[in-house]
Amino acid sequence: MSTLQSEIARRRTFAIISHPDAGKTTLTEKLLWFGGAIQMAGAVRARKASRHATSDWMELEKQRGISVTSSVMQFPYKDCIVNLLDTPGHEDFSEDTYRTLTAVDAAVMVIDSVNGVEAQTIKLLNVCRLRATPILTFINKLDREGRSPIELLDEIEDVLDMQCAPMTWPIGMGKRFRGVYHLLDDKVTLFDPHGDKDDQDAGQIIAGLDNPELDRILGEQAEELRIEIELVRGASHTFDKQAFLAGKQCPVYFGSAVNNFGVRSLLDALATLSPPPQPRPAASREVQPAEPKFSGFVFKIQANMDPKHRDRIAFLRVCSGRFDRGMKMFQVSTGKTIAVNNAITFMAQDRSIMEEAFAGDIIGIPNHGTIRLGDAFTEGEALKFTGIPSFAPEHFRRARLNNPLKTKQLQKGLQQLAEEGATQMFRPITSNELVLGAVGTLQFDVVAHRLEHEYGVDAIFESFSCATARWLRGSEKAIAELIDKAGHNVAIDGAGEHVYLAPSLVNLRLTQERFPDVTFLETREIL
Ligand code: GDP
Repeated sequence: MSTLQSEIARRRTFAIISHPDAGKTTLTEKLLWFGGAIQMAGAVRARKASRHATSDWMELEKQRGISVTSSVMQFPYKDCIVNLLDTPGHEDFSEDTYRTLTAVDAAVMVIDSVNGVEAQTIKLLNVCRLRATPILTFINKLDREGRSPIELLDEIEDVLDMQCAPMTWPIGMGKRFRGVYHLLDDKVTLFDPHGDKDDQDAGQIIAGLDNPELDRILGEQAEELRIEIELVRGASHTFDKQAFLAGKQCPVYFGSAVNNFGVRSLLDALATLSPPPQPRPAASREVQPAEPKFSGFVFKIQANMDPKHRDRIAFLRVCSGRFDRGMKMFQVSTGKTIAVNNAITFMAQDRSIMEEAFAGDIIGIPNHGTIRLGDAFTEGEALKFTGIPSFAPEHFRRARLNNPLKTKQLQKGLQQLAEEGATQMFRPITSNELVLGAVGTLQFDVVAHRLEHEYGVDAIFESFSCATARWLRGSEKAIAELIDKAGHNVAIDGAGEHVYLAPSLVNLRLTQERFPDVTFLETREIL
């Protein structure tokens, strides 16, 4: 194997999806601990402390305050280089999460054993399903009195329509939680509530379900376990790698993140079961990771910490080849070639300059607003990566200025913030208004805050009567006809596309019936 191929083969790029409070932060911290990035753990904990902020405003500050380094965390584990992509916890920033999920090759789904499958889990899993992303499931908080494991697996199968293949099985729960049995390895790892909090998985291991040692240690729970395992083996799916890679079946691990129990098994599964960097679809062809030429796309843009400089970091997922410091990259959307000397790696606690990266890795490119969400970079080929979603906003505001002389700044600010994905922007074709759209209302607060601090624009956001938006697709004639008859509800979005701003859902339905030759899209791919 060439260096390129072997470097790519050892990459694992994933994100954690969960409903708030299921334990994502705790699990992240433990994973980083295993990866030897222990100094990062402090950073995660600090974020957790601020997470319990009460007001939305503080939440907003927190979202903005997440340091760039914690958006992507890279660490070595065994022979692998693991890239863990963080996603914002707050539901209002879910668009950002959706886009991050386009840059991973696998996802870990954390389920709280007390609460089971929750609303945000369902939403995020549906996003993973769009790309058939392989999912590993971690059922957390076994140290608490939760639901029965069988019931939890049933719920995942029913509600999420995902086959479950238990890889470990819990021995009791809450006060009776004694550890897990590994179904494939036929061994038990014991849980010690007072044991080494750093690595419970390294604790006592007993080989074989029939081992009398188990009876000695677990007492009556040993026999209960044997009966349960027989049942589980008969009734549940056995792990099928093809089904897992196709996103149809998830291996399930039980544990307790806060006690660092079961985390190593999960990490081992990530290293051994989850796929290396996968091909990425582009408009013209599928891009293979081991192609010698570099390519990648921008899935996230984050404003930098210093608002005065309006710096941004564009997060690029390398899709093929390798990146070397200083290499010239062709920006497909502008046709320009840029030399990237200051790309950021996320390996260490602090930022450091990236020397090289391979397919699967994420690099951060500092820029001043020249890079947009969805931008592709290559060594010259005009690739357009597909599948980066933009979702129909559900909240709308009209932007009005206190000082009309600042119109230009307002337009520029909104345009740039829209390009970053902080909000969506619409210009109705029959008026001079600027309308903002968001999936979550907190996004408006971010935009107002940033307009003021980064662009010096004091804007007021007024209510705007619109139920939802749909991107319009159809022949020129069909679109022109719709504009002719219902142009007062049509706008142009930040990317220059026609959008229907429906005052009500009834109006939307009637308009759809009236113009059958036009397609009304709820999700648009950024191209
Ligand atoms: P996130 O919102 O998904 O990031 O969740 P956190 O990691 O912040 O965890 C939410 C709460 O659950 C915190 O109070 C954690 O200490 C707690 N927690 C996490 N893992 C466990 C666990 O295994 N057992 C118990 N009892 N609590 C846990």
